[in-house]
Amino acid sequence: MRGGADRLVAELRGALSDERVLAAVRDVPRDVFVPEQLRDEAWDNVPLPIGCDQTISQPLIVARMCELLELEGRERVLDVGTGSGYHAALLARLAAEVYSIERHAELSGRAARALAAAGAGNVTLAVGDGSQGLPAHAPYDAINVAAAASRRIPPALIAQLAPGGRLVAPVEERGEQRLALLREHGGELQVVRLDRVRFVPLR
Ligand code: SAH
Repeated sequence: MRGGADRLVAELRGALSDERVLAAVRDVPRDVFVPEQLRDEAWDNVPLPIGCDQTISQPLIVARMCELLELEGRERVLDVGTGSGYHAALLARLAAEVYSIERHAELSGRAARALAAAGAGNVTLAVGDGSQGLPAHAPYDAINVAAAASRRIPPALIAQLAPGGRLVAPVEERGEQRLALLREHGGELQVVRLDRVRFVPLR
């Protein structure tokens, strides 16, 4: 498995510059987060089905989204769309605490077991509608959204950003999805539209 991790990191290195993110990709055992019958493909740079009609995202995209959040290790992070829990596990290596919300209780239950197996102790899971965020633990220094919003990012999420906070989310507009990066700065929001991506819709 370690050979798989090194190969994956070598493949991502050309596209990413944050060494902390690359180290997290190497250290988080992705095989724990994929269904047993797909373990052989766990270290390939591809999305894979995880049940409930959902997928674990492609490692390159997960790593890219982590990099855009510019985490240094002290942050409180909200992750919307737990899915397999893999993205949350990477964020947990890069920040102090991660809160991750998923609408499918079944996926959240499996993610809890995978996160425990991966030794990620600083992730708290919740089941519910992530488009409302998780006000109980707000504000967040960084928010990661792993399902595509239609045209606009839910205002409840933006409202839960801490001063100076960053939010990354796929946004669907005119038939194409792109990553949007938002940054709160002195009461203003800066927004940039970046890479084309393909995520399941945010429900
Ligand atoms: N981050 C995941 C992959 C996410 S796929 C991983 O690393 O494996 C997107 C996930 O978002 C799916 O599991 C889907 O069920 C969930 N989702 C979609 N809309 C949601 C919503 N409104 N609230 C919470 N979760 C949602």
